[in-house]
Amino acid sequence: MTLVRKNIAAMQGYVPGEQPRGREYVKLNTNENPYPCSPAVKAAIGRVCTAGLQRYPDPQATEFRERAAELFQKRLPAITPDWILCGNGSDDVLTIVTRSFVDSGDVIRFPRPSYVLYETLASIQGATAEVVDFEPDWSLGERFTAPNDRLRLALLANPNSPSGTMIPPEAVARLAAALPCPLLVDEAYADFADRDCLSLVADNERVLVSRSLSKSYSLAGLRFGFVVGQPHVIEQLNKVKDSYNCDALSIAGATAALDDQRHFQRNRAAILATRERLAGDLRKLGFECIDSQANFVWCRHPRHAARPLYEQLKAAGVLVRYMSYAGWGDGLRITVGSDDQVGVLLEKLGTLLA
Ligand SMILES: *Cc1c(COP(=O)(O)O)cnc(C)c1O
Repeated sequence: MTLVRKNIAAMQGYVPGEQPRGREYVKLNTNENPYPCSPAVKAAIGRVCTAGLQRYPDPQATEFRERAAELFQKRLPAITPDWILCGNGSDDVLTIVTRSFVDSGDVIRFPRPSYVLYETLASIQGATAEVVDFEPDWSLGERFTAPNDRLRLALLANPNSPSGTMIPPEAVARLAAALPCPLLVDEAYADFADRDCLSLVADNERVLVSRSLSKSYSLAGLRFGFVVGQPHVIEQLNKVKDSYNCDALSIAGATAALDDQRHFQRNRAAILATRERLAGDLRKLGFECIDSQANFVWCRHPRHAARPLYEQLKAAGVLVRYMSYAGWGDGLRITVGSDDQVGVLLEKLGTLLA
């Protein structure tokens, strides 16, 4: 007998990437942005503090939704603030979506290898996770859209983590049309990609697109994300979220970050340039490395096992993410840091492989 529900007792619990205290690492393991956020964020948070924190925040984060709707107008002409729901990070949005669509005993479908949290969300809900392997070319075959009476939600990280690969929007539209349930396209990394799936939301009420300010806007510590969907769907999700799921500081900070597009574009361009350098130099070291549309690269070495490499790098002061998927395989996911950080990584790897 346990005190908690059976599915909770039986599950592992999500293990986030290490956030070490004490020793200073070159930290390339959780896809954080190496550059600081816009100074406008700190100014906006300071103004909120000065005004005082005794009042509850705006439960709908209206200020943020208005700015986001303006920003995405070009990608999705129909968008207005009521197409957007904000969350305490996009992980909160994923929880709200799961709780809205999925009952215990239902099925959630997602690809492998992908974001490990999806499995956790299914376990908490008492739902069954149906995992569909990516094809060798990182597309998704017919199994991903196969009928299943209990299927209630499909999740697709696009660009995907840990592979950094991307399914083109036209193909995602076909998957969504063929699926018998809603599809959440998790676009935590879309700001680093050439394309995105925002426009699909207008054509299909069953498509939801989630975004995060953690990576591309350098705000992992602030916690802010959002989901875009048709207003009648967003209205339902609104009933499920905590009333005050975003605090006054994060709403003000996230809005200021979105407003400073120059800062965003500059950091983005730097990361994309470093990404190409990192992938190229890893290949020179003999790694197999997939072209990435995100702020990390996924690689494996034909002659060196991934886990010992991860451990030796850690001992040398460089943290990368070792990922292993039961029944699939393993590899290293390396965040695109600053040029200096990437330089240290490559130098240590060069020594280890020599
Ligand atoms: C980082 C990440 C998230 C979560 O982002 P937060 O906004 O920090 O909660 C969601 N999905 C994927 C695939 C991620 O890598």
